Amino acid sequence: MLFKLFFTCCVVLFSLLSYANKSEAKVAPFEIAKLSESLYIVTDNDYGTNIGVVISDSATVLIDPMPGEGRFNDLHAQIKLLSKQPIKYVINTHRHEDHTGGNDFFKKLGATIVDSDVLESQTTQDSENSSNKIRSHLTKLGLMLSQVKSHTYNDVLVSHQASNAIFVGDVFDNSWHPTFYAGGLAGLNSSIDTIFSMTNKSSIIVPGHGKTANKELVDAFRMNTIAWVKLVSKLHKNQVSIDEMMNDKNINELLQRFNTENTHTFIPQNAFRRFIERTVEIIATGQK
Ligand SMILES: [Zn+2]
Repeated sequence: MLFKLFFTCCVVLFSLLSYANKSEAKVAPFEIAKLSESLYIVTDNDYGTNIGVVISDSATVLIDPMPGEGRFNDLHAQIKLLSKQPIKYVINTHRHEDHTGGNDFFKKLGATIVDSDVLESQTTQDSENSSNKIRSHLTKLGLMLSQVKSHTYNDVLVSHQASNAIFVGDVFDNSWHPTFYAGGLAGLNSSIDTIFSMTNKSSIIVPGHGKTANKELVDAFRMNTIAWVKLVSKLHKNQVSIDEMMNDKNINELLQRFNTENTHTFIPQNAFRRFIERTVEIIATGQK
């Protein structure tokens, strides 16, 4: 009997220990893609935001640090494994939460936030944090920044010359349909022209989410967006309803062209509807 009791206790203790081990192991690792000796992309599942980690002899620069709520300490620990240099700057490709969520965390650790507001700021030209000083310091770190208007009114493109790579935020997306709602088709076109002026045939183009791409894929994305707007425009003119458009064969075929990762259910139905509605809004405001 005593032996049986001892045995049961051992089993319970063993189960508790393995449960504790399992919960400790719950923190999933990040996905890391090494683009060059001085550039990594860190991704986590929550938002799937492509977080850039740029490393130099004197500083680390982060691009769009949003790993998911409550993962900032983990992200910081991961960055420290990649770079011993302090995080000097955090650059945001735009101000949406899924790209700026880690700003406060890294600001408290001493990083300067760089977004389109900071780049446009004229008031503090003499201070250490003036836009000119920040730009020139970033240039020394091999980073070139350009402002465009497509996904938002404040999109920033960030190229890292040593890696021949450019972070384009959500101006281009390899895992979703285009969201060119601030600039319309004209904004998308001129933003892609700017991306192309900053890159060459072998450049790596890093979208805000999804796999990296090259010029050819971004050009196909542009052509598909033009075809999409043209078709929605035609159907809208012929008074085809949103519901009818959602069932239209050509609309569905065009939508699938954005499904470059070939996922089984590309986007939820409500997102599909919203995409058509917002395209109609763009057409109605003459932005196309
Ligand atoms: Zn995003």
